[in-house]
Amino acid sequence: MSDPTTPEGRAELRELLAKATPEPWQVDDCEGELRVGAGDAVTAWQERTDEEGRSYRVGTPPWTWKSTNLIYEHDLETWDEGEDQDDDQRRADAELIVAAVNVLPALLDALEQASRDYEENMRAGLRHKHRAEQAEAALGRVRALADEWDTLPCVCGYQIPNGNDDSSQCLSCAASDIRRALDGTS
Ligand SMILES: [Zn+2]
Repeated sequence: MSDPTTPEGRAELRELLAKATPEPWQVDDCEGELRVGAGDAVTAWQERTDEEGRSYRVGTPPWTWKSTNLIYEHDLETWDEGEDQDDDQRRADAELIVAAVNVLPALLDALEQASRDYEENMRAGLRHKHRAEQAEAALGRVRALADEWDTLPCVCGYQIPNGNDDSSQCLSCAASDIRRALDGTS
């Protein structure tokens, strides 16, 4: 069985689609005849509205068709649903087969898109991780520098002879400011 979550599996399913009768397929269930067909082998339905505004459908059965366009045909015992369990099962199976075939191209497209999105998100995630690691390393270097300055004695207000540097902050106290900024407590 083809795994549609892998590119290989999707390619296999697309190959099956390409070889098969082109979709859309349709179930016709009319007067005890259950048919799965496509193209010119399906009943053509027209939407109509009656005098009271109610909509109804008029079906024109096919008269001639390419033989392979009639994909499956089964003579049911009953004409209407709810009268025979086996017939209802056959109707349900035909509906599922047709629905699955008809949505398969869109499902494969969606899976391919999801797969591309996933890979793009993975790449974006790796880029963000790389940037976060670089930022962490830079902060680590700043913290190491603050730790180093922290070991120095406080020399705030140290008077430089003949200077005017009496209000400067020393490296040791600057280290405390840097540490508070790093911790987010400043
Ligand atoms: Zn100081």
